[in-house]
Amino acid sequence: MSETHPRYLWWNGQQVRWEEATVHVTELGWSTVGAVFEGIRAYWNAEAGEAYVFRLREHLERLLRSMRLVRLATRWSIGELTDAILRLLRENECREDTYIQPVAYRAAGPKTLSGFSEESGLYIVTRPMPSHLLTGRIVRAKVSSWRRISDEVMPPRVKNISNYRNGQLAAMEAQLDGYDQAILLNQQGKVAEAPGACVMLVRNGKLVTPDVTQSILESITRDALLRLAREELGLQVEERAVDRTELYVAEEVFLCGTAYEITPIGEIDHYQIGDGQPGPVTRALERLYHDIARGIDPRRPEWRTPVGLAERATVSGAGN
Ligand code: PMP
Repeated sequence: MSETHPRYLWWNGQQVRWEEATVHVTELGWSTVGAVFEGIRAYWNAEAGEAYVFRLREHLERLLRSMRLVRLATRWSIGELTDAILRLLRENECREDTYIQPVAYRAAGPKTLSGFSEESGLYIVTRPMPSHLLTGRIVRAKVSSWRRISDEVMPPRVKNISNYRNGQLAAMEAQLDGYDQAILLNQQGKVAEAPGACVMLVRNGKLVTPDVTQSILESITRDALLRLAREELGLQVEERAVDRTELYVAEEVFLCGTAYEITPIGEIDHYQIGDGQPGPVTRALERLYHDIARGIDPRRPEWRTPVGLAERATVSGAGN
């Protein structure tokens, strides 16, 4: 795609041209404080000429949970949102790895603290996001001096845009201090997550990760990897509170999430992790995740929603 933006967005029930999807500047102020969003990936399979959306249903279910928690009324069903996303990907000709972002926001009511309306608006935008799986990318991380927000302040388990201010502070600190990534501890001093990803470690051959009550997002990638580790690799899995120093003595540590996919960590707070290179469990999971998400490995077909680009190519090819 030569354009720097997609041709279409989906906005409140309609597919609209990018240029036409505008709002007034005074909407900038409070508009996204209570907004929630999703980050979803579609993986392109060149051989099949098709893109597959990874765990679309689970992402849309989480979007509706997020809306419920911040008191935004749902106007569209999972079926309607699924159709909207697949059509958008087809009409934007997304023949590459693509990020899909639905954003639900408060569409009416006072733009102050007092009073609120549950009326929601929703837009969906797509953009190219090449996968870095199997590219050998490895990062250096720092345990942040900032703590993760907790459920009694604002709920980290859903994707409310306001939550991300916390992660941004940690990410900025890490970058200014010369690291690639931050890892935040929760209010109890246990490992929580990174600003945009969950944390997994390997200890004595077991895959260990903070459980969902440790101030983390209920991550869909985390869930996928725990299942693959247990069911396909036969690994033991522990979901539990994780101490900070367990990070330093782990055999392997990696981040996981839709955008981060699987991102191995080579060093945390100047402690080298393993031999500083991605370990065997990380590599095995990375291979499985890549092949399943891209539709190279036929396992878990329920995790892949075909976009319909292959069909479209055949239809337009037949017309030529
Ligand atoms: N934690 C945070 C704070 C995130 O923003 C993300 C990215 N959505 C994740 C974890 C990973 O979640 P998922 O696997 O569902 O993308």
